[in-house]
Amino acid sequence: MRASVRIIISALALVGTAPPLVAQTPPGPIVKVDGLRQISPHVHIIPDNSVPMVPNVGYVVGDRAALVIDTGLGPRNGAAVYEVAKKLAGSKQLYLVTTHFHPEHDLGAQAFPDTTRLIRSTDQIKDIAEFGLQLAKVFASRSPINAELLKDADFRKADITFERDYDLDLGGVRAKLTAMGPNHTAGDTIVWVEPDRVLFSGDVAMRAQPAFASPHSSLRQWLASLDRLEALKPAIIVPSHGPTADGTAFITGYRTYLTEVRDRAAAEKKAGRNVDQAVEAVTAAFSDRAPDKARLAGAIKAAYAEAQ
Ligand SMILES: [Zn+2]
Repeated sequence: MRASVRIIISALALVGTAPPLVAQTPPGPIVKVDGLRQISPHVHIIPDNSVPMVPNVGYVVGDRAALVIDTGLGPRNGAAVYEVAKKLAGSKQLYLVTTHFHPEHDLGAQAFPDTTRLIRSTDQIKDIAEFGLQLAKVFASRSPINAELLKDADFRKADITFERDYDLDLGGVRAKLTAMGPNHTAGDTIVWVEPDRVLFSGDVAMRAQPAFASPHSSLRQWLASLDRLEALKPAIIVPSHGPTADGTAFITGYRTYLTEVRDRAAAEKKAGRNVDQAVEAVTAAFSDRAPDKARLAGAIKAAYAEAQ
């Protein structure tokens, strides 16, 4: 018996039923610059290949200047993202903006030279002042590669600040930066490349379930943000994580989901249930339609707190 079991096990190993070791280890959070591709007349992206802690990196290239959107995790990724910017933009003036202050979007900024002008909303500056490197420390504790990438990483000071909107003329193409208020973070910033109808939506609209990552995150605000994004009528949405998509499917998907969370959470509150009971009931109602239970719970709690 034992011998035959052993034979079966070795036979399984031979035909490769057991997954190879590399498949069990998630890839490190490295921006893969050779994935660079052009998606519209003025816009190039480096896709994240849906690797955790890697952002989709964007480049908007005009006649006189270029804008880089998100840096990758830590200075080593930032340096690689900068090298691509030089290749695309030559000696043109470089601007840098981040979709929010989380480490994989922002903590490569220090690898850019002083001549690159970093643009931040005042809300993003407040996020950095309030939460600083907290999340970077969590990321660094997860793996040696994260710790190495984040070694000595710190926030870079803004060269240009704005309150709500900032129009950036790159020469032959304008990029409009907008501070969206407290959605994923308080300092969520989107970039609208009007002539190309390309929207860099940050974490405000993407394929994965929305993450209420800040104590300031508001479901009501998020729904209002989705209305503003939809009014732009984007042809292509580049979210800060995951695949890009044509049209507004990410926006309508988020609206459907958040509206249902809002209405179900409000009904639970009205029926006199406490927040934990509401999380349980609404989670059950979503069943397998919302596989990320932690993100769902975050949304339910925000909705519960905001319900009348
Ligand atoms: Zn984030």
